[in-house]
Amino acid sequence: MTIIATKIAVTGAAGRMGKTLIEAISNAEGVELTAALESAESSLIGADAGELAGIGKNGVVIVDDINKVINDFDVMIDFTVPAATLANAAACAAASKKMVIGTTGFTEQQKDQLLAHQEKISICMAANFSVGVNLCFKLLDMAARTLGDDVDIEVYEAHHRHKVDAPSGTALRMGEVVADALGRDLSTCAVYGREGQTGARDRETIGFATVRAGDIVGDHTVMFAADGERVEITHKASSRMSFARGAVRAAAWLMLNESGLYDMQDVLALR
Ligand code: NAP
Repeated sequence: MTIIATKIAVTGAAGRMGKTLIEAISNAEGVELTAALESAESSLIGADAGELAGIGKNGVVIVDDINKVINDFDVMIDFTVPAATLANAAACAAASKKMVIGTTGFTEQQKDQLLAHQEKISICMAANFSVGVNLCFKLLDMAARTLGDDVDIEVYEAHHRHKVDAPSGTALRMGEVVADALGRDLSTCAVYGREGQTGARDRETIGFATVRAGDIVGDHTVMFAADGERVEITHKASSRMSFARGAVRAAAWLMLNESGLYDMQDVLALR
């Protein structure tokens, strides 16, 4: 793959993913951190981004307004919160800047608003940027098509205590992949958690179970259970660096692509 030197802005620079992204950029070839942003309320505005990420000073000062750095980057990597990502996308679209979006928890309306910008700029958006999870999406499609409607399908996910949305974006994407393969609509067949007199299980449903505990980076299992046998496809992330490396790879890949909406399946040529 031809790599074009890519200038990257990281927003949410003081967040768990933001700091990991800054480290991942410093370890990757052909990319450079040229801007770092945080929310206007952050006490870290003016701090050195490299120092904050624990990799030593890199001279990139954290700013509170995208317009102050809009001419300094090619691609913005955004792992923040839905409202911030929407505002950044509007600014990036106005200035023809590309975006890698890892934020999860958008409402359908917010997603539509966000995706409208694909007419103007190239966006790579994924519920999970790890290579392993994206391979799992492919395996899930294969498993669902092979096992068909003869199995009960359940999605289990576990994350750290700080995660604010549930089920995880990755779990929902796993459910979508399976539902699409079986010709089902996830919005009508999903069952989120069970309690009390639930009645017997309807085979057409796809169940979701969520755990929030400790410092779990991200566990996902999809279970295909029949009478007499069970297939489970599991991914366990032990470090945020797997997401960050994928997002940086996506940023470099976007430099070669015109406006439109892409995901990690495109970046990894898994489609
Ligand atoms: P986090 O530690 O809470 O980081 C989010 C950061 O965004 C915080 O530093 C926050 O600052 C900042 N922020 C909020 N509003 C902002 C604004 N208007 N401008 C700039 N920065 C702003 O959360 P995280 O664990 O890094 O996760 C962030 C998002 O990425 C979540 O949606 C998570 O689900 C998602 N995620 C996706 C993947 C993937 O592969 N797609 C992987 C991991 C996480 P304050 O604290 O000052 O508000």
